Amino acid sequence: NTEISYSLPNGSIKKTNYSQTLTRIKKLANALLGLDIKVGDKIGTMAWSNLRHFELYYAVSGIGSVCHTINPRLFQEQIIFIINDAQDKLLFIDLDFIEIINQISIKLKSVEKVIFLCSKNEIPKNLNIKQEVLCYEEMLESVNKLEIWPDFPENTASSLCYTSGTTGNPKGVLYAHRSTIIHTLAAANPDALNLSSKDVVMPIAPMFHANAWGIPYVATMVGAKLVFPGRHLDGKSIYNLLETEKVTFTAAVPTIWLMLFEYLEKNKKKISYLKSCAIGGSACPRFMIENFSEKYGVEVIHAWGMTETSPLGTVNKPLLKHLKLSKKEKFDLATKQGRPIFGVDIKITDDEGKKLPHDGKSFGNLWVKGPWICSGYLNISDSKTHQADGWFLTGDVATIDADGYMQITDRAKDVIKSGGEWISTIEIENIAVSHSKVLEAAVVGVLHKKWDERPLLLIVATEKVSKEEIFAYLKDKIAKWWMPDDILFIKGLPHTATGKIKKVNLKEQYRDYLLNKS
Ligand code: AMP
Repeated sequence: NTEISYSLPNGSIKKTNYSQTLTRIKKLANALLGLDIKVGDKIGTMAWSNLRHFELYYAVSGIGSVCHTINPRLFQEQIIFIINDAQDKLLFIDLDFIEIINQISIKLKSVEKVIFLCSKNEIPKNLNIKQEVLCYEEMLESVNKLEIWPDFPENTASSLCYTSGTTGNPKGVLYAHRSTIIHTLAAANPDALNLSSKDVVMPIAPMFHANAWGIPYVATMVGAKLVFPGRHLDGKSIYNLLETEKVTFTAAVPTIWLMLFEYLEKNKKKISYLKSCAIGGSACPRFMIENFSEKYGVEVIHAWGMTETSPLGTVNKPLLKHLKLSKKEKFDLATKQGRPIFGVDIKITDDEGKKLPHDGKSFGNLWVKGPWICSGYLNISDSKTHQADGWFLTGDVATIDADGYMQITDRAKDVIKSGGEWISTIEIENIAVSHSKVLEAAVVGVLHKKWDERPLLLIVATEKVSKEEIFAYLKDKIAKWWMPDDILFIKGLPHTATGKIKKVNLKEQYRDYLLNKS
């Protein structure tokens, strides 16, 4: 009878419970079988963190098919690539993403049916979709619930998520039932997320990004009350849910908390029930850990992970000996990304592969290994980042101290992380240089108050060209949130000996550009 609350697009909050939800999950499973879905078939979802998405997680995986969560914020070419690469048979879509499906439908090769996550009267008119269109609620109404779940080997794939490709196309990461269960068991532990049936858990990290950090599985395993925030993730909406649903645990990227802090300050509000909050996706700034602790009495659990690591890799929890540290020392420790949770091994090496000491100072390439760390990418046979002995090269650069606490010092590549989401500099540069008046272009991540980092586009032009012209040229070619915050015209770009643009120098030079501008 434990409650599940979920926020509707109009902001109202509805309630159900696990047993009613299980009935719907069993009906959905039966409906999928009725559509001839078999073990191993991929089922795409493009949806917010909401109840129907949760039902899909369990019904799709429960019959042995694969729940492929698609990030709707990617730009269209990537979404099309991802759906075709995965060979999704069905697509379940929130009404918010009608525009996307209308535009890409014609380019989808494997999709047979598009199912809108709504009731019959909400199905939009004037659709431009070549696939058969079905209605989710109508589908559930027309079937009985599944009586017996099918049995299949534990290594059967359960879900699929694509990395947001930094260079080239996104890469598919398949999660198995086995890896997901072990990840769930480990994630619930006291030195990890520390969740139990007494908790009220709200995953804000989206269900299309590494399975909302595995939280829908953990909450269900321990029988915690679940709260799904839906599409409104602004400070006010999050605060209302935290308070009305008495949320004790939540998880999100730093940007979400900046919006919450702004709302709390402006409206002089306090947080009443929240005990702890996991922060990851990009480094959690120290002021955020302090603010949560000092002003609002909330413990920040700084965590690191990747799509490739299911995603939990390391979690920052103090050891017994740390309890006597001063406040300052505690906050210093908390800014690190933490120790590997049980099951995960990490190491750092130099570029030649030599292991570096765990002294908290030496930094090198971070490797990770464990039962829920992916061993390869879907449809890619020659991944250079996966070793036969199970070690995976993360692309992050880090230190590890004598107690095993890891700290990310840099990213190996120049990818920009804006509000926890990737922006590929090379993609934008390639489009910019295809403009006839652009000779060379470089995109660098510069500091931004709200989004941590935003892209700044530097251009060497061949003839006079305006910012507006370049912005107009980029429009419709890249996702809206990839649009550079500003464009600067410069005389020349610095190059390395092999002719590559020296981005490190540019990053240094323009680091505070947006901060100084505002
Ligand atoms: P994704 O696969 O999109 O989840 O991105 C994974 C990447 O996000 C990692 O390789 C890191 O570069 C970055 N990341 C995740 N968590 C953290 C963190 N706590 N601090 C710094 N970077 C992080």
